[in-house]
Amino acid sequence: MLIYLDNNATTRVADEVIEAMQPFYREFYGNPHSPHALGRRSQDAVDDARARVASLLSVTPEEVYFTSCGTESNALAIRGCIGQDGRRKIVTTAVEHPSVLALLRALETSGEIELVIVPVNRAGEIDLQAMQIALDDSTALVTIMLAQNETGVIHPVAEVSRMAAARGVKVHVDAVQAAGKIDVNPATLGADFVSISGHKFHAPKGIGALFVRKGIRIPPLWYGGGQEEGLRSGTEAVPSIVGLGAASELAVEKFKMQQSVKRMRDRFEALVLEGTPLASVNGSGLRLPNTSNISFSGINASRLVFMLDRSGVCASGGSACQSAKPDPSAVMTAMGLPLEQAIGAIRFSLSRYTTDEEIDLASSTALAAIEKLTAVPV
Ligand code: PLP
Repeated sequence: MLIYLDNNATTRVADEVIEAMQPFYREFYGNPHSPHALGRRSQDAVDDARARVASLLSVTPEEVYFTSCGTESNALAIRGCIGQDGRRKIVTTAVEHPSVLALLRALETSGEIELVIVPVNRAGEIDLQAMQIALDDSTALVTIMLAQNETGVIHPVAEVSRMAAARGVKVHVDAVQAAGKIDVNPATLGADFVSISGHKFHAPKGIGALFVRKGIRIPPLWYGGGQEEGLRSGTEAVPSIVGLGAASELAVEKFKMQQSVKRMRDRFEALVLEGTPLASVNGSGLRLPNTSNISFSGINASRLVFMLDRSGVCASGGSACQSAKPDPSAVMTAMGLPLEQAIGAIRFSLSRYTTDEEIDLASSTALAAIEKLTAVPV
């Protein structure tokens, strides 16, 4: 039996999504730009998917641009703002995903931007005072995630946007972990750009979207056939776009299911915390309903993840891309966790497919593994 609690790394593609996509491989394989019937069929499907994604975000379809992933959406928004109105400072937080932080550090090194990184506290909450000070008339963009991928902590984006608006600063929100799990509405967030990625909410890997507020113009990352209003050239990945549309519709329908996901997540945490004094939950305040980041003090997270895996439980010892490294995750370090807690941090992330039985089994498996790892040899 496999218990998949690594849904912040990626999710299972929903059956409904696969069904919606299949005809666009086998029958309707036309290029949306071709003027014949098969091409028009694909174009209609892309339009339809755009409307569904727009509905998930409560925006107009014209404000949705398809990309290949969250990483690309982030790069498109960030690079697009550099130098606008002569502004070259970009402000971000210490707990952003590498698709934001690594890009910004590279841009800083090459002298293209001035970078300010706002710290977070032990609970994973951003320092709003430091944010206020960082945002000034030379700032082109503040880029901030809505929900943190390792802890699930939800940032006060609307508050940051109000500060940004007072200085004429544009706002990019990396909503890759939030979309499909909580409401993501650029109007209430005060966002000019919002990135989402299909594989985090039951669409396939390799499809994303960027919301760009109507009236804002940014340059593309590359040039070509002029698809997506010239912002993202390259023949549209029609089946994947259809999949993103179908997943968006499912997410809209199933928002209420997040209540049951939260109930299971809370029960999982309670079981683990009751079972061992070594456990403590990382990140507090508002959190994604599906995410639980637990430190097992003094335990090596990689060893625990390995043992869980051998018992059929998939979890993550940091963000997916970093889990091969033994070092504590950059996010736990930024939160100022003591080393023995930082290296023992494990992320369990649920989905709408998680069951109560899986929660029981996963918690008892984790506790048994902890007991083995802490057993004193006789
Ligand atoms: N932003 C966040 C917060 C993420 O968690 C991830 C993926 O883990 C990304 C961006 C990158 O998304 P993608 O894998 O679609 O490139």
